[in-house]
Amino acid sequence: MELFHYLETYDYEQVVFCHDQASGLKAIIAIHDTTLGPALGGCRMWSYASEEEALTDALRLARGMTYKAAAAGLNLGGGKTVVVGNAKTDKTEALFRSLGRYIQGLGGRYITAEDVGTDVHDMDIIHQETDYVTGISKTYGSSGNPSPMTALGVFRGMLATAKVALGTDDLSGKTIAIQGLGSVGYELAEHLHHVGAQLIVSDINDEVLRRAAEELNAKVVAPSDILSVQCDILAPCALGAVVNDQSIAHLRCQAIAGSANNQLAEERHGDALHEMGILYAPDYVINSGGLINVADELEGYQVERARAKVEGIYDIMLRLYETSSRDNLPTHLAANRMAQARIDQLRAVRSTYLEQAKNAPRRTHH
Ligand code: NAD
Repeated sequence: MELFHYLETYDYEQVVFCHDQASGLKAIIAIHDTTLGPALGGCRMWSYASEEEALTDALRLARGMTYKAAAAGLNLGGGKTVVVGNAKTDKTEALFRSLGRYIQGLGGRYITAEDVGTDVHDMDIIHQETDYVTGISKTYGSSGNPSPMTALGVFRGMLATAKVALGTDDLSGKTIAIQGLGSVGYELAEHLHHVGAQLIVSDINDEVLRRAAEELNAKVVAPSDILSVQCDILAPCALGAVVNDQSIAHLRCQAIAGSANNQLAEERHGDALHEMGILYAPDYVINSGGLINVADELEGYQVERARAKVEGIYDIMLRLYETSSRDNLPTHLAANRMAQARIDQLRAVRSTYLEQAKNAPRRTHH
């Protein structure tokens, strides 16, 4: 990779390579953009096949976080850390403390959190070296597991989606198909059951399916069938890339609104959904409840305030759909446009402010 060329193309601010012989730490912290505030993004630990793969992942994910925070209305920028290593065998206290020092060294430009391969315990260790970490244990004043807030945000975003796609945000009697009843999917199913929706669900874990059938009166289908069932809204809450060349022709829904990351296999699948008249709730906007929740920690966590902000995903989604229909733009592109517009506006506000400060009459000393 031509690193500086890549940084220039997507306007990255900073990349930090962290190496510590004693602890075996090999990590990359990518800071994409801090226009809106400090870069927040999780710490992923993964056995990357190559250094280039690790770097590409850090850069790509950091940029995604810039858009996610901007679209969610947060005063945060985008960043990400990747730690090269096996999350099952290579974790040590020394490794995370060493990473914590690097994060501390950035003086608050970057704030870390849990991600694939890391957990609350790892964040607590990082916290011993720096305050620039969220998602730590509740005993340290943190918000705990973000999944319930993610599920609430998806539920609210789904209501906004229904209002546009089905002409009503009353989901009673509507059929919602959920792929994956994990931490987010099950909680989403409970919200939907509560408002009288009919559920069709699928998972690879039989236990959770039994529970959903019993507690939520859900109809269970095989994992291979869930994407093609007839329903009002499909909620992918398990895997990425579910909207792909194979699945797209079989979709029988009016809208797609779920928590999974990277639901479109490729951007062009978002264009195709637009053409087919299937309303797609851009994943990084509708699933931002967890991020909104964790961001509240930075102001001293208050659950009610966090919940109110997460519920605001309803309005954010409505605005997004307005932009999409006004400009006849597929929703995934409307989301990017909205996020970029917010960054550009606030950058302009700042530069105006700096300009004014520069032109202000200078204080004269007597
Ligand atoms: P999870 O691991 O708790 O749940 C995933 C569920 O999907 C599991 O029950 C699993 O058995 C099931 N599953 C796996 N393969 C499947 C298949 N082929 N068909 C049907 N079900 C299958 O994860 P989660 O925390 O609930 O997250 C779900 C999705 O939402 C993920 O894509 C995640 O990246 C995304 N997400 C989660 C959060 C959060 O706060 N947890 C935030 C943003 C995005």
